[in-house]
Formats: sequence, structure tokens, C-alpha cells
Amino acid sequence: MWRITLNSRQYQHQLKIETQKLLQRGIFWAMNMTLFLVVVILLNTYYFAYDIYDIKDILPELAPVTLLVLVGFLAIKLLALDRVTSQQSHAFLILLVLGWCYLLYGLVQLSSEPMPGLESLGDILALVFVFALFPNRRVMLLGILPFLLFSCFYRLYDFPDAPVYPLTKFFCLLAIIMSGQKIISGWFVKAVIRDFEKQKLVKQFKRLALIDGLTNISNRRHFDEILTQEIRASERNSHALTIILLDIDFFKRLNDTLGHQAGDEHLIKVAEIVSSAVNRPRDLVARYGGEEFVIALPNTDLMGAIRVAEKVKNLLEEAQLAHPCSDVSEWLTLSQGIAQWEEGMSKDSIIKMADRMLYRAKSAGRNTFCSDKAQS
Ligand code: GH3
Ligand code: MG
Ligand code: MG
Repeated sequence: MWRITLNSRQYQHQLKIETQKLLQRGIFWAMNMTLFLVVVILLNTYYFAYDIYDIKDILPELAPVTLLVLVGFLAIKLLALDRVTSQQSHAFLILLVLGWCYLLYGLVQLSSEPMPGLESLGDILALVFVFALFPNRRVMLLGILPFLLFSCFYRLYDFPDAPVYPLTKFFCLLAIIMSGQKIISGWFVKAVIRDFEKQKLVKQFKRLALIDGLTNISNRRHFDEILTQEIRASERNSHALTIILLDIDFFKRLNDTLGHQAGDEHLIKVAEIVSSAVNRPRDLVARYGGEEFVIALPNTDLMGAIRVAEKVKNLLEEAQLAHPCSDVSEWLTLSQGIAQWEEGMSKDSIIKMADRMLYRAKSAGRNTFCSDKAQS
């Protein structure tokens, strides 16, 4: 199934990012392996190949690749691995491979007799770059080919009369590496897609937990979370904060006359209208209960909230949603209670205050709004 969905652009983008990340880590690992192999070469020369190489002669051959890796480590320390661009890492990779080629060439030049160890070194380097670069088939091929070819030609050069063994080894290794890479990168792609699906599901669950199913606006849980955060922000910055609690007038009668489905449709329209009355990014409209809505208005004082309440009232009037048996209008209306947050007020106390103001608006005849300092 993942093969079908792999074509999606989102997956491709995610895959590209993950491939790049893994390649960077692979190149970083190849840098560590380079230092390790340089030490191994030095120890080998000192203990086993001292009659072939003079350690002083091979130091200049080892220097470029060693210096390159040290400079690479320094750059990573200064830049942080995650901030290295793909062009930078590819350029570094090319230099690293060239550094190794230079070293191999130097060792061939220095050796007075055939060195089976050099063929093995070529094979080992191919292995290192297989692991380091497996997420990208083409990059991996470019990384390993110089070493596989070196190993093959070095053997051919030593034993020109027996070409079958090095050529067979070359093609067998190439076939094994390329087919093996397919299997490993298949697992890698699968893991990326699973991770991507998981993240998508988590996002969807989070959304579902915070959105009201009928009206598609925030639900009470989301509102409570945001209001708590906004109260904390107002405590820190002493910024104004107001909320408006809105309740549809005679909604039960509307349900009873037009039916529950029409009631639902009206709720959806009211949610749209109330949402369109606010426009700042931090303003939040939520469905608070059955036919109750709530608006949080950060950085807004009482006068600002009254303007929003008036706007809701006007927009609702313009929308002319039918309400056949309301006592106050032939169209659907709302009552609104406005409360302003004051120092020391908790979330519950500001909501309680807005509820009191809503009750007052209902008692005052409905289709109106009340606040502790003003009334429409
Ligand atoms: P008031 O003017 O005093 O607010 O009167 P009201 O009829 O609006 O208030 P009341 O609390 O008596 O009734 C609210 C009604 O809202 C009752 C319920 O049937 C209806 N309601 C609550 N949730 C939904 C819903 O999701 N869909 C529909 N269609 N109706 C709902
Ligand atoms: Mg109600
Ligand atoms: Mg009501």
C-alpha cells in the first residue's frame, strides 16, 4: 500500500528531507571511519610494513584526507550538523573520496612490491561508503565506484595474467551492493512513510480533540486551554482581555417548530457569522455548549469587545435566519454577556462574570448585550 501512496508530493518531500538527513549522518560517520582507518594504516605501517614503507614517507600522503576530516569536524562544530546544506555535504563527500584516492595512489607509488593490503583497503573503503551513502543510490554508486575499481585494477596490475578473479569480484560485489541497497532503502522508505503517517494521525487527533464536530470551530476544551494561556499572558503584560458569551434566543422553540436538523443548520450559520465578526489572529471563537458560543478577545478592552458584540448583532440581523416563534424578532437573535479580565481573576471567575452578564441580557429582553459597565 505504501508503494501507491509514495507518489504523493508530501511523501516525496518528506522522503527527500529524511534522505538528506541520513546522508549527512552517513558522511559524518565516514569522517570518523576515515580517522580510524588513518590510525590503522599508521599502525600497520609501523608494525608490519616498515620494510616496505617509511612512516615519514606516508605522512604527506595521509595529510590531505586527515586535514580535510579535521576541517570538516570543525565546520560541523561551528555550524551544527543539521544546518549543513546538501550542496555543502555533497561537496565535502567529493573531497573526501578524492582525498582517499590521493592516499591510495600515493601508497601505490611508494610501495616497491605488490601490497595485498592495498586491495583490501579499497574493499574496506567501498564498504564504508556503502553504509554511509545507502539512502541515495546514485550518490552511493559515485562514492564506491572509485574504490571498487581501484581494488580491481590494483589486482589486475599485480597479476595481469589472471584477470578473471578481480573482474568477477568487481561485478559480484557491485551486483550484491546494488541489490542489497534496494532492500535496505526499501525499509528506510517504509520507516519514513510510517513516521509521516503517524505524525499526520497525531495532528488529526489533536484537531479532532479541539474542534467542534458540527460547526467546525473550536470546542470548549480548546477555548479553556486558550483562555488559560491568555490570562497568563495578561498577568505578565497587563494587557486587556475580554470575553463574550453568546446564547441563541428561544432556540428550543426553533428546534420544536423547524426540527432539529434546521436547528443544526442554524447553529452552523451562527458559528460562521460569529467567526466573521472577529479578525485578529489571536481572537478565538468557540462553541461553548449546545446553542452557546464564546469569543476570547486578547489585547481588547471593554469598548473593543462592545464593538465586536455590536458587529455580531448587525451581521446576524443582515443574515436573516428564520425563527418563526421568537418573542423578540422574526429572525434568529442572540443575547451576549461581556466580561473584562481584571488582575487576580481566574478563568472560572471571568466566565462566571460573562454568564451573569448574559443572564442580565436575557432578563433585559434578549437580542442585546450587557457588560458590567455598559449595556446596548
Ligand atoms: P433562551 O432564550 O432562554 O436561551 O432559550 P433557549 O430555548 O435558547 O434555551 P434553552 O436552554 O431552554 O434551550 C436550548 C436548546 O438548544 C435546547 C436544545 O434542544 C438545543 N440544542 C442544544 N444543542 C443543540 C444541537 O447541537 N443541535 C440542535 N439542533 N439543538 C441543540
Ligand atoms: Mg443556553
Ligand atoms: Mg438559548
